[in-house]
Amino acid sequence: MKKITGVMVYYYFICKRKLWYFSNDVSMEHNSELVGIGRLIDENSYKREKKSILVDEMINIDFLKDWKVIHEVKKSRKLDEAGKWQLKYYIWVLRNKGVEIEKGILDYPVLRKREEIFLTASEEKELMNVLKQIKDIIERELPSGVINKPFCKKCAYYELCYI
Ligand code: SF4
Repeated sequence: MKKITGVMVYYYFICKRKLWYFSNDVSMEHNSELVGIGRLIDENSYKREKKSILVDEMINIDFLKDWKVIHEVKKSRKLDEAGKWQLKYYIWVLRNKGVEIEKGILDYPVLRKREEIFLTASEEKELMNVLKQIKDIIERELPSGVINKPFCKKCAYYELCYI
């Protein structure tokens, strides 16, 4: 059984086909200019505070303040919902490890904005359902269909889906 990573939760909310490709080791991310931009932001923002922490090879936290607040850095708010759930997943994983996380913060350095993220009891139930569905999707023999969204053009798997 594959471990569910934070990126998988993120992709679940963006595109289930992308989730399948990524989880089944179809990797084309190095071709994506967007990923390059993301990396650049990552390298240049929060230089003094930044600590990248990998937990159980499942979640890669941008930084953790006083072991209570998790920060996740994003470049735009376009895929907000996915980023929120990725962060809720991080909160859940760490709480299950006995770390008393209060909240998460989504940081948008380019926009100079930040948003507080919490994980409520009802959202935790929703998250369990999402994790179940992720397991189901990634174990299928074939990926889900293409979703025809404007952001497909910027996706690393665009050629696989449309050409
Ligand atoms: S190109 Fe579109 S349909 Fe294909 S994996 Fe990416 S987001 Fe999904």
